[in-house]
Amino acid sequence: MDFSDTPQEAEFRKQARAFLEANATPKSRSNLKKDESEADFIQRAKAWQRLKQENGWACLNWPREYGGRGATPMELIIWGQEEARFDVPTSPFAIGLGMCGPTVIAFAGEEQKQRYLPKMAAGDEIWCQLFSEPAGGSDVANLRTRAVRDGDEWVVNGQKVWTSGAHYCDYGILLVRTDPSVPKHKGLTMFFLDMKSPGVDVRPIKQINGNQDFNEVYFTDVRIPDSQRLGQPGAGWKVALVTLMNERLAVGGGLSNTVLDVFKAAERIELDDAPAIENKAVRDRLADWYCREMGLKYTTYRMITALSKGADPGPEASISKVVVGANNNESASFALDLQDMGGILDDEAWSGFGNQFQRQFMRSPANRIEGGTDEILRNIIAERVLGMPPDIRPDKNVPFNEIPS
Ligand SMILES: Cc1cc2nc3c(=O)[nH]c(=O)nc-3n(C[C@H](O)[C@H](O)[C@H](O)COP(=O)(O)OP(=O)(O)OC[C@H]3O[C@@H](n4cnc5c(N)ncnc54)[C@H](O)[C@@H]3O)c2cc1C
Repeated sequence: MDFSDTPQEAEFRKQARAFLEANATPKSRSNLKKDESEADFIQRAKAWQRLKQENGWACLNWPREYGGRGATPMELIIWGQEEARFDVPTSPFAIGLGMCGPTVIAFAGEEQKQRYLPKMAAGDEIWCQLFSEPAGGSDVANLRTRAVRDGDEWVVNGQKVWTSGAHYCDYGILLVRTDPSVPKHKGLTMFFLDMKSPGVDVRPIKQINGNQDFNEVYFTDVRIPDSQRLGQPGAGWKVALVTLMNERLAVGGGLSNTVLDVFKAAERIELDDAPAIENKAVRDRLADWYCREMGLKYTTYRMITALSKGADPGPEASISKVVVGANNNESASFALDLQDMGGILDDEAWSGFGNQFQRQFMRSPANRIEGGTDEILRNIIAERVLGMPPDIRPDKNVPFNEIPS
């Protein structure tokens, strides 16, 4: 493990910091955006993405000809560390740039890459990921949306669910079943499609926190040109693995870590006539999270060191996600308990700490589901990191249309 920047990395960090300091505001409680419509937020996000792209700070590890910078994995991580300290709107692009872009780079034809990637990198077009279905979430290869070839086109019918951002996205990558007569992983094909295509019906889902970030998406006789196929017919699982490998990195790395905020809150909250942080039971809980944080920090350093030596992102990224997801969820719940009756207020104007822990408490359960549930991540860690016996998969080699449903 190497903890310090090389001279080149230090220079890169200096330049990144200079750009950010000149063009963005550092994060603080006072710049929480209130009463901003989603449409305004998307426009602000597009403007920030365009500014980054024009100055060489977008999609750092993508090739230059597609709108990136050809940077090293270490430079990408350094940029992520620096940008995270600023109040900048990046979330609408997380899936497109973090997962769809790398999949298009790996599997699209040259003409398609030239057409779509620079606009994606500049924030002009936003992309979503259409994988999960009612019958195919953790076991995404169980999906039922089907596509049938008709000349130079494919005709798609079925339903996706939990599609983040589908209601404002321009394009999406879509995994469908094209051959139900072979085992489930072998009959899939990946496409990308225009989300405004006739027959695409996007229906937003309302969440516990009042937001509508994801959607059901219905397909009725939607026609996709064969030129928008990513990879060979039937090889969709291989393509999806590239997306999912990038997803685990993007989701795990992108989760904000709020345990240290609970430390600060415990210094300010009174418990038994003293700051809560002086209470033994409180200190016990905080110490527990602190140990997990430190374990996470050094596991992340190990991963970063491996990446900087040219390794691909491996199943170890699952460890970060499983720890950060649980920490965010448990520590937010604890911060609400510490606020006593104040913890039940859910109002920017009245709640303590700018409503931060209420928002986190209601969003953090999703952290433990999106990009792979805690249970699935533990299965991955058990099988691929620890080498334990695999989960039981009775339908693995059975033709899909013979699996009872
Ligand atoms: C905020 C958010 C955003 C999302 N965005 C997208 C998106 O943009 N695009 C997209 O395609 N999907 C998206 N998803 C969907 C997400 O990928 C799925 O919700 C997730 O993979 C789990 O699938 P499921 O909801 O069908 O749960 P299920 O797979 O039905 O799981 C139900 C429960 O069973 C457990 N379980 C399942 N299989 C096993 C097993 N083998 N061993 C042990 N336990 C098991 C799970 O852990 C879970 O607790 C999003 C989800 C969330 C929460």
